Amino acid sequence: MSEDMSIFPRIALKPEVHDYLRNVFSNKEVLAAVGQGEAEKRFQRLLSCLSHPPAITCVRTSTHLAPLEEIQHRLEEELKQQKCGSEDVSVTVLPHPHIPDVLLLPVMGPRPVVQLSAEVIVGAQCGSAVLRGAHVFAPGILATPKFMKKGDLVSVFSDLERKCTRGNKDFHGKIVFLGNGVSEMDRADIFCSDQPVKGVGIWMVEPLYQSPSFDGILPSLVFLQNLPSVVVGHVLGPRPGERILDMCAAPGGKTCHIASLMGGQGEVVALDKIKGKVERIRQNAKALLLDCIKAYCFNSIKAVCSDRGQDTEGPPYPPESFDRVLLDAPCSGLGQRPNMACTWSLKEICSYPPLQRKLFHTAVRLLRPGGVLVYSTCTVTLSENEEQVAWALDTFPCLSLEPQEPHIGAEGMPGAGLSPEKLRLLQRFSPELDWVQETGEDDSSTKLPESLPPLSQRANKDTIGFFIAKFLKR
Ligand code: SAM
Repeated sequence: MSEDMSIFPRIALKPEVHDYLRNVFSNKEVLAAVGQGEAEKRFQRLLSCLSHPPAITCVRTSTHLAPLEEIQHRLEEELKQQKCGSEDVSVTVLPHPHIPDVLLLPVMGPRPVVQLSAEVIVGAQCGSAVLRGAHVFAPGILATPKFMKKGDLVSVFSDLERKCTRGNKDFHGKIVFLGNGVSEMDRADIFCSDQPVKGVGIWMVEPLYQSPSFDGILPSLVFLQNLPSVVVGHVLGPRPGERILDMCAAPGGKTCHIASLMGGQGEVVALDKIKGKVERIRQNAKALLLDCIKAYCFNSIKAVCSDRGQDTEGPPYPPESFDRVLLDAPCSGLGQRPNMACTWSLKEICSYPPLQRKLFHTAVRLLRPGGVLVYSTCTVTLSENEEQVAWALDTFPCLSLEPQEPHIGAEGMPGAGLSPEKLRLLQRFSPELDWVQETGEDDSSTKLPESLPPLSQRANKDTIGFFIAKFLKR
């Protein structure tokens, strides 16, 4: 058994990225507001939180199809059936205290799980999915014991530094324990098949973090979505009959939410530049019974045409074609959780702001006067968030910042020269959970206390890192 299962490493970053982020979180304005010690503590807490999964699973419900209470009841029944066979069949599903279409489920973990000598190593992306309740799909497996057979009980680890090669038999790099499972395949089925390997490779029986699997559960009524992403749909505030543009839409979680809030009445145009991902938008819309969504594969930078008379079925569109525009921008994704290791260079992280600005120009042109533009990212940098807002307000005098409803996150971070009033209009989700305990300054790990605050208190804080700004075009 590992000595203390509540200890988990902080996210591993390239040194240049670590220093860049540390400077962001202790910029002059932050230091003036909270001081060096507190700024450093917040930064370390953020690094710890990023490697842990959020302690709450958030499910968005199709309240245009059934009332929340009915969906809650049906979900509880489905999950009880899923758990049949195990001793504990109690399932907690709670409505969110402020958001009318959200249900919350606590994640149990980290639990004390005994590590075994048989080790399976999976890729970092697969490892993150396992920490959020998934089983191990065979393509994610990198290494197994030499003679692993179907039915063997194994311990599963994530390759922290992305150094393990596929088929490795004796890997000694940095790994993190994810729990125990039963192999569904022989080693040869995974690495020696002529065909690409498919399906579940390890069925997790004792995951470190226990969360229900939503695979095939109430497909038209529930959709797994991070809480801040659901907040975006409400902040955009679409109304039945409107024409809405979602510029970077795949896989379509927010598109479908927008259509659901409109009760399926009106038109939601969803664009994404990657063809395969556009198919995912269509599949999600179909599963959620939403037929007012029109999805196209298109580069949104070019989505505006100069001819005001031309309004064809698909993109490009004439200026001022939409009542509301969502720019959920491509970003460095540094708020995603759990993320135990980010291998990105600083150059890659810094490539996003110019792209976001190009998309922003198109967004403003396509929005009608009086219309609403929401800009969001799932990252924590200043350059992709508050600095973009400051730039937008300078560049487009027709735009003003608007209050957001609901506003359950923190305000914007100082450092981009925005006034305190403007920062208060922004919404930043930054998981610096104050109940996480530091184990020491030079130590790279953190400790979770044995008892945590109640779910209702944690729901709005224990989220992915996220940013939302709402503008009105005058
Ligand atoms: N809004 C999505 C949701 O909630 O499911 C997530 C969007 S993700 C943050 C950003 C998306 O932008 C990616 O799917 C990416 O393919 C797309 N993208 C990047 N550059 C684009 C462009 N120039 N035009 C359209 N889509 C783009």
